[in-house]
Amino acid sequence: MDARKVVVIGSGPGGSGIAALLAHGGDKVTLLEKNGFLGGKCSALEQDGYVVDTGVHMFGQGPNGPFGKIASMVGEKLDWCLREPMIDFYYSGKGPMHVTHNPLNPIFIKSFLNINLRGWMKPPNLLKDMRRIFKNYTFKELANIINKLSNPYTPYLTEFEDITVKDFFASITDSRDFLRSMHAQTMITMVIPWDNASLADFLYIQFGTVRNRGFGYPAGGSGEIPKTFLRGFERNGGTIRTGTEVKTIDVENGRAKGVTTMAGEFIPADIVISNAGIHRTIDLAGEKNFPTAYTTRASRLKMSCAFIATKYFLDTKVTSMMAPCMFHCPDLDADEMFAYIETGEIPKDLYLFVTVPSMSDPSLAPLGKDILIVGVPAPSDLSRIPQCEGLLDLAEHIAEVRLFPEIKGHIIKKQRTHIAQTSGLTGRKTGECIGLAQEVGQTGTKKPTPQTPIKGLYLVGSDAGGKGIGTECAADSALYLYNILK
Ligand SMILES: Cc1cc2nc3c(=O)[nH]c(=O)nc-3n(C[C@H](O)[C@H](O)[C@H](O)COP(=O)(O)OP(=O)(O)OC[C@H]3O[C@@H](n4cnc5c(N)ncnc54)[C@H](O)[C@@H]3O)c2cc1C
Repeated sequence: MDARKVVVIGSGPGGSGIAALLAHGGDKVTLLEKNGFLGGKCSALEQDGYVVDTGVHMFGQGPNGPFGKIASMVGEKLDWCLREPMIDFYYSGKGPMHVTHNPLNPIFIKSFLNINLRGWMKPPNLLKDMRRIFKNYTFKELANIINKLSNPYTPYLTEFEDITVKDFFASITDSRDFLRSMHAQTMITMVIPWDNASLADFLYIQFGTVRNRGFGYPAGGSGEIPKTFLRGFERNGGTIRTGTEVKTIDVENGRAKGVTTMAGEFIPADIVISNAGIHRTIDLAGEKNFPTAYTTRASRLKMSCAFIATKYFLDTKVTSMMAPCMFHCPDLDADEMFAYIETGEIPKDLYLFVTVPSMSDPSLAPLGKDILIVGVPAPSDLSRIPQCEGLLDLAEHIAEVRLFPEIKGHIIKKQRTHIAQTSGLTGRKTGECIGLAQEVGQTGTKKPTPQTPIKGLYLVGSDAGGKGIGTECAADSALYLYNILK
């Protein structure tokens, strides 16, 4: 039998993952990427001896999630840097809590006790919380939830997909610190506010990260994830063309026939797979070729919020962090913390996601130096660029004055990347971080699947089918699609 001709549009973790899997399975695959480099939002570029993440990334399940699975399926190995502690949770005014892969690690236990002594999490009012829990849930419902959550295989619990993270946690406690931690965890992993976020996705992500003990950073930088898949792809005969933007997906009689590039070249295909996102894919294939119900539903789908960042090229090492990653939590109530995304204001304090990739892998910066990345949740609409600049002004102030005084006088260069850059990276109209928002009503069983109504046209990436955090969701989508197409 002749091998199927497949064209994959885009080289994000989803596009590179499915390209590698299909080439390994014997298909004749061509991958077209509009950028001059590979990896989409999950890439890293070399600048003056520093390897700089185009975003600001950490990876929840590392070698033990979908990345490890795809790499081993295509015969490649991706090395991971799993540092201990893995995260410094920094609560404004209360100092750090060092979180380790194993919660029984003394480093974690000691810092947990210390931060509690400094008044972080006031002891919960157990009696009040128990009363609240039994008011909201029957004994049978509680036993069912506990039973489900203790399943070691961390299934995706669809029965929770229509419950928001906020509704669930507010129904079991009113502990201020616990609630703001849950809102912060929602924002850092799903990049949406907790009052829309689906509890099923939240639990899947949190339990998957804790159980798989793979939280970390790939050796060589975040771009190594798609590059590793694509090494396997090329070894299995796949063709990569960078700097090649697809202008149209060509459809005849309800079937995808191939693609035409911006340069006017027609590339025929039996199967076209788009990593360009659901909205852009509809534009590329022509709205008229889809049933109205599909395009109407797609037009209502919401994308996640954005993450913007300042990157510091330092001529010194960062000494204020023990872990290569910090979550800085402001002293604000749960509902106040991210209200600025809606209101357009600049708040008085900010939640920050800070990484030092060269602490994970020292080869990512010149000897004795570090690259420090300070990320902030932000709105994704391009009309909000001025607010994003204001948020980064505040983030830089917190980083330079409060969190990392040691970098004063050691900043070689600062570089800001925000929604305009992210939108440029992906070719989407907005600068969202993840892709499709993992919100109630459009996730789990209601999430668009990789199949589209056009025969031979499929979606892959964070908009279609997968579950997990951003990049892992995109790689999971590649596994999902491979199961359909193999
Ligand atoms: C600042 C920031 C921080 C993030 N932090 C994290 C994190 O800590 N952990 C995490 O897991 N995730 C994180 N993410 C999210 C993660 O990077 C994305 O969810 C993930 O990369 C989405 O993968 P994807 O496969 O859907 O495709 P994308 O990465 O969106 O890539 C799509 C690719 O398609 C190409 N393309 C589009 N249109 C065309 C066309 N017409 N022709 C040819 N090529 C085309 C684009 O150029 C791009 O390369 C972050 C993202 C950002 C921006």
